Amino acid sequence: MASQLLASSDVLTYVSDHSRAEDEILRELREETASLPMGAAMQVSAEEGQLLALLVKLTRARTVVEVGTFTGYSSLCMARALPDRGLLITCDVTDRWPAFGRPYWKRAGVDDRIDLRIAPATAVLDSLFAEYGPGSIDLVFIDADKAGYAAYYEAALMLLAPDGLVVVDNTLFFGRVTDPDAQDPDTVAIREFNRFVRDDPRVEMSLLPVADGITLIRKTS
Ligand code: CA
Repeated sequence: MASQLLASSDVLTYVSDHSRAEDEILRELREETASLPMGAAMQVSAEEGQLLALLVKLTRARTVVEVGTFTGYSSLCMARALPDRGLLITCDVTDRWPAFGRPYWKRAGVDDRIDLRIAPATAVLDSLFAEYGPGSIDLVFIDADKAGYAAYYEAALMLLAPDGLVVVDNTLFFGRVTDPDAQDPDTVAIREFNRFVRDDPRVEMSLLPVADGITLIRKTS
């Protein structure tokens, strides 16, 4: 599956060459992840990791929630961008993949600001609402099962402070959103999600044709 839709491989190489290089820790985690089944397709690109870190800094986020840890590459990028007493809460349904990332979090010295929870995302988001309350979170990154996006988005809006940011990954879903023959549940869920967000009066949004489609959503009320 192609991970990029609009740019030629020459342009992608140029983008990569003109982005900051990964340090050794990120590079090694990327390489270890790429050796796993579906690893290369499922982890965020180096450029997307940089964008996530930049967004954490631009929003001056102190508390970030990530839905979908996988091997913890994006977790590491965002945790590093947090201020000293910042917190990243990340969740996945199995510890199998985050277990790869944990040693890298420790090597980077940010394991103490990452709260990994192994449970279904809706249960984690519910418990965060109970623990932290409404308006307590600055940024939510959604990158998990596509059928769950609508529910995660609603929970994110409840958790987010006004002006808080939701970042949603894979909103072009390898280009399948425009393929009329693609009627699988994940693609259908992404199409419905994209329409819903476009028309949602509670937010401002921008669907970026970067990587596999990244939608930025600002909570306005
Ligand atoms: Ca993804």
